[in-house]
Amino acid sequence: MATRVLIAGGGVAALEAALALRKLGEGRVSVEMLAPESQFWYRPLAVAEPFDLGEVKHFDLAELATAAGASFSSGALSGVDAGGRLAHTSAASSISYDVLLVACGAGPTPAVPGALTFRGPADTERMRTLLEEILAGQVGRVAFVVPWGAVWSLPIYELALMTAAYLAERELADVELVLVTPEEAPLGLFGRAGSEAVRQLLEERGIALRTGVRPVELVEGELRLVPEGTIAADRVVALPRLRGPRIDGLPQTVEGFLPVDAHGQVHGLADVFAAGDITSFPVKQGGIAAQQADAAAEMIAANAGADLTPQPFRPVLRGLLLTGRQPRYLRHEITGGGGDVSEASPEPLWWPPAKIVGRYLAPFLGYFAGVESPPEAPAAPGAVPVEVELEAAQVHGLVAVRLELAADPEAEGGATVSEVMSTDPLLVAPEDTLGEVAEKMRAGDTGSALVSDYGRLIGILTSRDLLRAFAGRVHPSEARVREWMTAEPVTVSAATPIEAAVTLMTEYGFHHLPVVDDERPVGTLGLRQATRQARGRIGIGLGL
Ligand SMILES: Cc1cc2nc3c(=O)[nH]c(=O)nc-3n(C[C@H](O)[C@H](O)[C@H](O)COP(=O)(O)OP(=O)(O)OC[C@H]3O[C@@H](n4cnc5c(N)ncnc54)[C@H](O)[C@@H]3O)c2cc1C
Repeated sequence: MATRVLIAGGGVAALEAALALRKLGEGRVSVEMLAPESQFWYRPLAVAEPFDLGEVKHFDLAELATAAGASFSSGALSGVDAGGRLAHTSAASSISYDVLLVACGAGPTPAVPGALTFRGPADTERMRTLLEEILAGQVGRVAFVVPWGAVWSLPIYELALMTAAYLAERELADVELVLVTPEEAPLGLFGRAGSEAVRQLLEERGIALRTGVRPVELVEGELRLVPEGTIAADRVVALPRLRGPRIDGLPQTVEGFLPVDAHGQVHGLADVFAAGDITSFPVKQGGIAAQQADAAAEMIAANAGADLTPQPFRPVLRGLLLTGRQPRYLRHEITGGGGDVSEASPEPLWWPPAKIVGRYLAPFLGYFAGVESPPEAPAAPGAVPVEVELEAAQVHGLVAVRLELAADPEAEGGATVSEVMSTDPLLVAPEDTLGEVAEKMRAGDTGSALVSDYGRLIGILTSRDLLRAFAGRVHPSEARVREWMTAEPVTVSAATPIEAAVTLMTEYGFHHLPVVDDERPVGTLGLRQATRQARGRIGIGLGL
């Protein structure tokens, strides 16, 4: 009998995986797709919409699923019983599977209070209104900002550059534009040549640049920055912070992301895979989502008996950075052939090698949209080719919480976590049952347990998680810690200044913080003890 694969999601990763499974599965897999939306949205051109230079396309999802050889069910994945191989849905029904691939994406949440958060097509009109206000002379200073934690920052650069070109065409020279980012170099992810090209482009278009700071909030015409400083701004346009949807029974990080191995398998859960924005890989980009989906599909097909050697996920950013001097025909392609585009018009900055990302998805959607495949390597003057192999450790480092930002520089020599932490944390194993751990927590009168695997901290389970699990009617002697813990928790070391730890706990809403030595759990810090001990001013903030 065919292996029944349930794909939760109807976006880039889900469709790419369905297509890859059809191709690689050799008839050994059947695929069902589960998604709450009836449409597939192709979003990259969302940044061009406010300038009338491109249109976000959408397709009927059930039609796409059928054409990809999958059946389609409407609904949202709300929980997983990994042991029983059951997926629970928002419609209070359950779907039985052999293999589950979670590709539910990530949702945008505002990251900078007071800013216009640009989430995609939903904000086209608000961006248009801002342009009108600038033209009417009501707005003279605009900051485009990348919040802390966003690694795919390209859309905000495109919005800033398009705004500059739009204003230049209308001969509005006195509007101040600034791009503010925590990145060390603009679009640093794209490598040195790409970053330098973007820096020059910003300069040419008269956009000021401020790097290495976290924009926090817009208050009374001032954009507040961490660790210090402000920028005068009438309006701020910000990228959102992304969060994975909460799904019961899966080990998610505090942001709702799923840690997976190089083949997309969710750590420790048999036959549960994940791909795309919902994984804890920090670069939330369509090309990367498709590469993850391919790696997972190869593993699933191989496990089903297909004759192939599954290749691990090897993230590569591939494409061209356009610097604004490309010939007309190319820009015509970018805008979907929608009308004539003048030489001076603003244009998207990024040109992926295929118009629609994904090894299988690109030709598939191209066929549906009735467009020819774009030229593989357009010879655009001034374009910078990008082919960067991303190193997971380096990319994760870009979003790691940097505690020095939270510490009060004047508090040097003050109290550290070592003075207040409890040094005998309750340690549990990922395969322990919730019933066992609840009993240990009660006996030890503690509200949290640190989950350790081969001596390494992999999660934290709190009384809140237990409540959530028991409210979902799981069986205490069947549900495992791994399925309900917060994975890859935020940690501090014993040497962390206490004020920094308190800031961290307050910003995230944590009551318990694991203390580690290297990756080994050595203690727990409770909010109450920590705040009692903390002295002086807390509150520079992390800019979360
Ligand atoms: C403005 C903007 C511009 C972008 N530009 C580019 C670009 O130029 N190039 C690029 O490569 N990428 C770009 N991206 C990023 C790209 O869109 C995402 O990285 C990509 O779509 C991620 O694919 P995914 O399948 O993980 O998630 P998505 O494509 O977001 O799909 C998630 C799917 O899961 C469904 N879902 C949600 N919750 C559940 C649930 N509980 N159960 C079942 N299904 C669920 C959703 O309905 C949706 O169908 C851009 C994004 C934005 C917002």
